[in-house]
Amino acid sequence: MRTLVLNAGYEPMQLISWQRALCLVMSDKAEVVARYDTEVRSVSQSFKLPSVVRLVRYVRVISRFGVVRCTRKNVLMRDTYQCQYCSVKCREESITIDHVVPRSKGGKTTWNNVVAACHPCNRKKGSKNLGDTGMVLLKQPRRPSFRELMGENGQETLLEWLPYISQAG
Ligand SMILES: [Zn+2]
Repeated sequence: MRTLVLNAGYEPMQLISWQRALCLVMSDKAEVVARYDTEVRSVSQSFKLPSVVRLVRYVRVISRFGVVRCTRKNVLMRDTYQCQYCSVKCREESITIDHVVPRSKGGKTTWNNVVAACHPCNRKKGSKNLGDTGMVLLKQPRRPSFRELMGENGQETLLEWLPYISQAG
């Protein structure tokens, strides 16, 4: 189960594990905005897992607010852990990130240039340009919206987050 972190101004920032979210709350770095119905029990108390927390202090974000950053995890989520060349679905440990325009040829780590790829396809493509390999992309990579990315976490969870996501447009 994951927790949505909001910046002090309620802008959605990222998803973290509920354990990490609790740590933020316990150390007074964040406050709970909404909770799941699921309870966890410790020796002395029980509490509902936070579904949304808000940071107490404003954190300056490099990207524009509400815009999803191009990280390995986010790219894999966008591509639903499916190799974008041979369309095989992979587990997290057996998938990697491929630069469509290779880094050695100036390709950047941007949403339009990175895709999920299985290791065999990643090796096959190597540092060649896509056109020289005969390989074809399943779909043209692009930046997903926050909503698209979080849709992968299930409808129920999405509903709880919706009011906060909507604020980000
Ligand atoms: Zn593949």
